[in-house]
Amino acid sequence: MFDYGERIEKARVEMDRQGIDLLLSVGADLPYLTGHEAMALERLTMLVLPIEGDPTLFVPELEAARVTPGPFQLRPWKETEDPLGLVAAAATGETAAIGDQTWSVFLLGLVERLPGVRFSSATPVTRPLRAVKEPGEVEALQAAAAAADRVVNRLRGDRFEGRSEVELAGLVARLMVEEGHDQAWSEIIASGPNGASPHHEPGPRLIGPGDLVVVDFGGKVEGYLSDCTRTFTVGSPTDHHREVHAAVLAAQEAAKAAASPGVPAEEVDRAARAVITEAGYGPYFIHRTGHGIGLEGHEHPYLVEGNGEVLQPGMCFSIEPGIYLPGRFGVRIEDIVTVGSGGIRSLNDSDRSLLEVS
Ligand code: ZN
Ligand code: ZN
Ligand code: ZN
Repeated sequence: MFDYGERIEKARVEMDRQGIDLLLSVGADLPYLTGHEAMALERLTMLVLPIEGDPTLFVPELEAARVTPGPFQLRPWKETEDPLGLVAAAATGETAAIGDQTWSVFLLGLVERLPGVRFSSATPVTRPLRAVKEPGEVEALQAAAAAADRVVNRLRGDRFEGRSEVELAGLVARLMVEEGHDQAWSEIIASGPNGASPHHEPGPRLIGPGDLVVVDFGGKVEGYLSDCTRTFTVGSPTDHHREVHAAVLAAQEAAKAAASPGVPAEEVDRAARAVITEAGYGPYFIHRTGHGIGLEGHEHPYLVEGNGEVLQPGMCFSIEPGIYLPGRFGVRIEDIVTVGSGGIRSLNDSDRSLLEVS
């Protein structure tokens, strides 16, 4: 479906530009360049991509059956072989860029075996490629977002009261798969005062009448992630709930209006933050406005003060302002958007209002 040979050639152009002889890829760079997603294991999987000559994908022998052939040589290694020695023997050059998610035990082993090589991060090589999505990648993200919207719609018809957060998380995970995700990836269910913690881990708390419930979830479609947040109210909301929700929604709309090609990422954060500050809740918006999304749930570009990176057509990211009132409740609204030539297009289109459930 994706042209890995073309991506490898683009990576080589970047390597050449940046004076990198060798790219050692793990993490999400690996499926980006080869289509193969490795488990993060003590057994090494690594793509060795020299600036010239064939790339080689080293995989544990027991994983080799999962690899779809591509524009690389496959080198399965046996349990009794030394994979770092094999990688080191294939490594040619003086400068090696290595994936950020390489386990330190692997990097330390390579540093020892390749004393003449200068190591740097692979992100400067892969970031400009991965941040601007190909049309096929936007399609996969769109399919994932549409599946997430269907989950929101089904939740609206469901009962929250009397269920624990963990139970609701299980339901959300099941609905994600039923609605077209290949797998569920994460579910945050933060009810009542737990909503004030943006990354709350679902727990035993029973959801009760009058609670606001922040539901933030995502799953994979063809390796690409959805990430969607809606805030539900169990029964009618209070005036305070409505006021806070309205401020978050207005902040999200302002951020969407500010996001277009040529605009620095931090401007989008400023637009959302200005609305929330104006409403009097500035100190309670305790995270950046959004993050890039693709093969990873959080990737470049990050919409945060200090990031002057300019938005380009093809970039895809979340816009997810929130207000978190300690001991009381929280509200967040999150959509995935893609940058087009004239502005952004939201990949999510489910109802963003405070969603009333029983
Ligand atoms: Zn988050
Ligand atoms: Zn999220
Ligand atoms: Zn997110």
